[in-house]
Amino acid sequence: MANQTLLVNALTIDATGTEQNHQALFIREGKITWRGHQDDLPYEISTERFDCRGALVTPGLIDCHTHLVYAGSRANEYRKRLNGMSYQVIAQQGGGILSSVEQLRLASEEELFTQSLPRIQSMVAQGVTTVEIKSGYGLNLKNELKMLAVAKRLGECTGIRVVKTFLGAHAVPEEFLNRAADYVDYLCSEMLPAIDEAKAADVVDVFSESIGFSLSQTEQIFQCARALDLPIKCHAEQLSNIGASALAASYGALSCDHLEHLDDAGIKAMAEAGTVAVLLPGAFYFLNETKKPPIERMRAAGVGMAIATDCNPGSSPTTSLPLMMSMACRFFSLTIPEAIAGVTTQAARALGLQQTIGTLDVGMHADIVCWSSIFDSADLCYQFGNRLPHKTMIAGQWQTDRNFN
Ligand SMILES: [Zn+2]
Repeated sequence: MANQTLLVNALTIDATGTEQNHQALFIREGKITWRGHQDDLPYEISTERFDCRGALVTPGLIDCHTHLVYAGSRANEYRKRLNGMSYQVIAQQGGGILSSVEQLRLASEEELFTQSLPRIQSMVAQGVTTVEIKSGYGLNLKNELKMLAVAKRLGECTGIRVVKTFLGAHAVPEEFLNRAADYVDYLCSEMLPAIDEAKAADVVDVFSESIGFSLSQTEQIFQCARALDLPIKCHAEQLSNIGASALAASYGALSCDHLEHLDDAGIKAMAEAGTVAVLLPGAFYFLNETKKPPIERMRAAGVGMAIATDCNPGSSPTTSLPLMMSMACRFFSLTIPEAIAGVTTQAARALGLQQTIGTLDVGMHADIVCWSSIFDSADLCYQFGNRLPHKTMIAGQWQTDRNFN
């Protein structure tokens, strides 16, 4: 007997995030093999039915930008910031990203796994079935590999899909202080080839910024990634516009992320290359930013927009993708369908996985969430900070019945 499930009476969404009523989905051997109006269900499909009772059914949510593997906490920095201390002074006192690097290097792989596990579990409990996890707090081969090994293990342990991204170019480590060019040389000649050799990462990312890696250093890393046939992503135009998104798009980047300061040249380049804009409203909120990404101009140019948590200890310590959807609507004026597509269709594109996940189309992996108490898709964004009851299926297998009423 083949492994199969039939969902009926579902309120589904299409690839643009638009609602469709009275839908049925037939799942066989881990894939969606039929989908349509339930009145059109072929008679050959006769199996036990799972009645969704008109509730919302979406693809499994995809968190396409996280730094969830980290050690320790920077809550004390948050306290200082609330008391009026500037980031610069905090960094001078040993805070900031390099404090995360220090804590990560001190932590064993086991400690790192134990500390990161509740974060990924929290995501799973909110309907996430695929998560991207970046390295970037190790900043040397041994510790970057440690982070990526933990990322892999988290996927094996929770059963969700994990995309591993090498972000060695997150910051310049202390031992290369004022020698960023030497660090980039080390990254390209030693770290990245070894990481590729170990098949430890699926994607390469760069923090390209006036306070991060320069445009020419960014390009050096992109060239290295291209030589190894690894796809790229870029943290671009968060604090200023240095043209990183146009550069990344010219290298066929899967996504450019943040983009608060994105200009028209960047928008045009991203539209032409099909590069996805990943919006990170959690960091925008937490850093109390006021400059918003150019949503209307990206929309007009046809740039796909994804939404992610950016889960990290310094600027977005959250695990709630549904909360990010609500923030993207409120802060960045996304529509409800855009927000839903932003964590499904577009998030899949941002990971280069649009052929296998992110929609409920026939042939896709059956990564599905049944939201048992939601009968209007707007509810997914309208409610914020609430745990929404649901039942999750990954590759055709129902996951533990937690949260399902
Ligand atoms: Zn990030």
